[in-house]
Amino acid sequence: QDFDNNVKPNWCPGCGDYAVLNSLRRAVANVGIEPHNLAVVSGIGCSGRFSGYMYAYGFHSIHGRSLPVAQGIKLANRDLTVVACGGDGDGYAIGIGHTIHAIRRNLDITYIVMDNHIYGLTKGQTSPRSDLGFKTKTSPTGSIETPVSVIAMALAAGATFVAQGYSRDLDELTALIEQGIQHNGFSLINIFSPCVTFNKVNTYEWFSDQLIGVKSIEGYDSGSRAIAMENIIAHDGLLTGLLYQDKSKASYQDLLHGYDKKPLSHTDLKLSQEDFERLTAEFY
Ligand code: SF4
Repeated sequence: QDFDNNVKPNWCPGCGDYAVLNSLRRAVANVGIEPHNLAVVSGIGCSGRFSGYMYAYGFHSIHGRSLPVAQGIKLANRDLTVVACGGDGDGYAIGIGHTIHAIRRNLDITYIVMDNHIYGLTKGQTSPRSDLGFKTKTSPTGSIETPVSVIAMALAAGATFVAQGYSRDLDELTALIEQGIQHNGFSLINIFSPCVTFNKVNTYEWFSDQLIGVKSIEGYDSGSRAIAMENIIAHDGLLTGLLYQDKSKASYQDLLHGYDKKPLSHTDLKLSQEDFERLTAEFY
């Protein structure tokens, strides 16, 4: 199945998000999902356009709010595979409260974050993932705020699936997204996806030089939260691969009383035409 909806992305040439889009399309095809069983929800930012570029259900929500919408969709229709997308500004600044609670809630959705360490859509401001000393028009003498250690935060919040990918490695990224979709619970996939237009520090060359694959670390065990935490701190967050997975913890929907009954979206609410018009009148 081809998930290309023939809408041409308007990202800058060379933007890392192209690779993420291609990886998601490949991953859902490899897993065998049909377009009518996939919902892609995005927030605001360059990454927010994602939901409009997939041949699937799409919902372009508001800034930092892709996760509440995605969770609502999954609760209403468990038959859908739900993927939420956003950027580091979207998910780790205004949306960080939703991110932490979605992680600990462990509902079965996949969250893909395109982490470029800057706000791209609004033309280059310091983000919660920008490094100390990073200069932009909002921090002209260099950022004085410590960046969010997103993986350490996710591990501390009780994450059951945490991975990091890189836009230059499509094969690994595709495999990580496949694993995230197949994981029964909340999957966080943070992706180093360079903004070639506004971030002249964290470039492809910089990431290629800095990133280390966990497969190359002797004794690394993605089943151990302690090892994941120890290594993510030791390497300043710059690791790629499957960092941690806990397959034993029950997901939110496994524990939710009544969730195994017919999905809300398939339930006949027995509304008369008159009731329906009364309930929806305020939206016209
Ligand atoms: Fe990509 Fe940056 Fe251009 Fe946005 S501004 S499309 S993040 S390169």
